[in-house]
Amino acid sequence: MNAPASLPIAAPAETHALIAGASIAGAGARLPIFYPATGAQVGELIEDDAAQIDRAVAAARTAFKSGWAKLAVEKRQEILLKLHDVVLAHADELARLECLNTGIVMRELRERHMKRAAYNFRFFAEYIAHAKGEVYDQTPGYRSVVVREPVGVAALIAPWNAPTALASMKIAACLAFGNTCVLKPSEQTPLALRRFVELLHAAGLPEGVVNLVNGRGATTGAALVAHPGVDLVSFTGGTQTGRAIAAEAGRRLKPVTMELGGKSANIVFASADLDRALDAALVGIYSNNGQQCLAGSRILLERNIADAFIARFVARARGIRIGDPTDDRTELGPLASAAHRDRVLGFVDVAKADGAALLTGGKRADMPGALAGGYFVEPTAVRVGSSAARVCREEIFGPFASFLTFETYDEAISAANDSDFGLVAYVWSDHVPTVERATRDLAAGVVWVNTPMTRELRAPFGGYKDSGLGREGGEACERFYTEVKTVTVPSTPVAVRKLGLPTG
Ligand code: NAD
Repeated sequence: MNAPASLPIAAPAETHALIAGASIAGAGARLPIFYPATGAQVGELIEDDAAQIDRAVAAARTAFKSGWAKLAVEKRQEILLKLHDVVLAHADELARLECLNTGIVMRELRERHMKRAAYNFRFFAEYIAHAKGEVYDQTPGYRSVVVREPVGVAALIAPWNAPTALASMKIAACLAFGNTCVLKPSEQTPLALRRFVELLHAAGLPEGVVNLVNGRGATTGAALVAHPGVDLVSFTGGTQTGRAIAAEAGRRLKPVTMELGGKSANIVFASADLDRALDAALVGIYSNNGQQCLAGSRILLERNIADAFIARFVARARGIRIGDPTDDRTELGPLASAAHRDRVLGFVDVAKADGAALLTGGKRADMPGALAGGYFVEPTAVRVGSSAARVCREEIFGPFASFLTFETYDEAISAANDSDFGLVAYVWSDHVPTVERATRDLAAGVVWVNTPMTRELRAPFGGYKDSGLGREGGEACERFYTEVKTVTVPSTPVAVRKLGLPTG
């Protein structure tokens, strides 16, 4: 295990809202922000109340009306590309801030999260250059043109497990299609996103286009969703929260996208390249400190390869380097909070009560020096008898793999689909007919074949069943962030029936 090091960066003593480009302290509760690697408090967030939400929504509305929605596409592209550049130029600083309140390993933050965050702006800048309308001229004498227009003010609500990578996708898409927004990061992880929004302004984003408020879901988040000035809501987070937000938005007929939880199956057939499947199974459950919606958390193995595969998996899991997230050699950092660590470890007893065998881990990782106060958990794996086990049904959201075995193809698919979730599924096999069948039979919004997670931004991303509502991605975002208007024009003056003329 690595030796403890100092904080990745110093945090501001207080984290405030950013409204119309200005830092504005709210009047709400003061909430502590912790460094998960040591458990030390590193700052405070000032919670924003209803009055702050009013200000932020009003600023977004003003920016929407006063120009952003009507800006020429080329001008909007130019600004989005500057936002891409500023995020890349500050990737290290942003990664350090993100690390400070998430404990995610710096290497992953720098090389994946912040590059993605920057790229999201370039992707949507390029997308809008080619966005098309539709024309219908089948009705003789008429031409109908379908155009897309910005919707208005969006509420963007982000989780704590990949704050900037996920929120930047929402911000970039929202802005590219001419909307303005109020962003609410998770109350646990406001630091990098606060700086991120500040940087967007420094790069030339007009004030009021992106506003940021802070606070807990039940206070700040709920007030934002319910605000009458908010036209649409894009949410990434847990399924129960998603239900509450969708219900509130539904009462007000606000469109929503919901990127929710997962319990994704990673199916390994005997016909797979087992070395690669093993590498990917480890990455699929232990990367991002085990806290990912896309995790392949249910590993389904064909019976005749199971024992050997599990033995190799366990040996590798025990070799994973747990430690200081700022050390580039570290492979697994701490969980995001003490409460989350306790919840994850609570699933060990849950698994045992369901008859599961603990294969490895299942306890706090003992760390030296300052890291002793961190929220570290050993990479954990259990073997269960059936997909009825609670560890196969509930999202644990930690470095916790559950193994199941199957004899036949049908058993594999039925176990994979035996879930309330349906975010993604992984299939490992070099037998083409098996792969073809599985991609049709799996009930998941994304199926990855012989690859770990690989997000294709052009394609829709989102879940079946309790894993979500709506999709994100190029065209999917265009649909969400625009209203459709059909304009019908006759090519020659039309004869209109004359009502109300005297008869006779
Ligand atoms: P969470 O649902 O607790 O919180 C997410 C966000 O919603 C936070 O900003 C929170 O403050 C806010 N919130 C909570 N209650 C609210 C309310 N009533 N009204 C408005 N806002 C409210 O989720 P989390 O614990 O931060 O994140 C982990 C969850 O997110 C996991 O379930 C994970 O699978 C999911 N997730 C999904 C995806 C995806 O793309 N499908 C990506 C990442 C994370």
